[in-house]
Amino acid sequence: MSRMYNFTQLIENANSIGISGHIRPDGDCTGSCLGLFRYLQENFGQKQIDLYLEPFSEEFNFLADSQKVKHEVPEKKEYDLYISLDCGSPDRLGMAEALFYQAKSTVNIDHHISNTCFGDFNLVEAFKSSTCEVLFGLMEPEKISKETAEALYLGIVHDTGVFKHSCTGEDTMRIAGKLISLGARPEYIIDHTFYEKTYLQNQILGRCLLESFLVLEGKVILSCVDRKTMEFYGAKSLDFDGVIDQLRVTKGVEVAVFAYETDTQEYKVSMRSNGEVNVSKIAVFFGGGGHVKAAGCTLKGSRHDVMSNIIAHIDNQLKQILPG
Ligand code: AMP
Ligand code: MN
Ligand code: MN
Repeated sequence: MSRMYNFTQLIENANSIGISGHIRPDGDCTGSCLGLFRYLQENFGQKQIDLYLEPFSEEFNFLADSQKVKHEVPEKKEYDLYISLDCGSPDRLGMAEALFYQAKSTVNIDHHISNTCFGDFNLVEAFKSSTCEVLFGLMEPEKISKETAEALYLGIVHDTGVFKHSCTGEDTMRIAGKLISLGARPEYIIDHTFYEKTYLQNQILGRCLLESFLVLEGKVILSCVDRKTMEFYGAKSLDFDGVIDQLRVTKGVEVAVFAYETDTQEYKVSMRSNGEVNVSKIAVFFGGGGHVKAAGCTLKGSRHDVMSNIIAHIDNQLKQILPG
């Protein structure tokens, strides 16, 4: 189903509710999980509500209830209802995948075009900027507290790249405005959680830009970091936030690709498109997913193989889009 009119009913019927988002949580994932967690606690008391999420950026710790997030799952636990947020496929729930399937009923709320509709109830709105925007549509505005508003606002800010990506629409801005009037602090959230970088993050960014290279007549920019380099800087996956965005704004570039080694000869690949290339298609081909203009996947092999595989797919699409 495309719209979930009975969301409130589903919540009311459940005594225990589990919530999770995708592995390596980003702003939208963390914001939607903490926003829904808060909203349910404030408006549907007397329920057991648990939120399981992998560790997220410490810049998000100011959000209400961030200390209540559980980072480990119990082995056997059957929730009445389990809600997946911002997650395109069940394997991306990571440690919470088993809990999701053990639940009596499951809900999948998301905005990834690659979403596999793996819940009993699915609300997947690929035209929306963020899961936080989808969630806002399910909430009653008068029941949204300042704390919930800040979490949702943070998610929208991050998935729109501060209201600049093509997914930003009239509704996005209207909702963001409403969240501000409900108490969300734009300058604090935008500066503190999006633009501010640690010294290490800046160093890594510089290194990635320095080592980037152009292919396919300057239409594609790539950069790749191996484990040795990561260890040298003491960099973790969260420290690469923003690298792909900087690569993407290189003049003349249609597609930006950034990869870092997650395990020996295993690379997490991020792709961003400025034009017609559908990077979700490429990510899905390699077992990942995402959106038309922002997607990711994990590939095994040497850095050379990984880059060549991705370049070949981009080249294919570019040839179809720009024949000759
Ligand atoms: P990233 O490049 O990791 O920032 O991801 C870009 C978009 O693609 C985000 O919306 C992610 O949730 C999604 N994404 C990234 N990696 C994967 C994956 N392996 N499977 C499915 N979706 C992904
Ligand atoms: Mn996400
Ligand atoms: Mn998202």
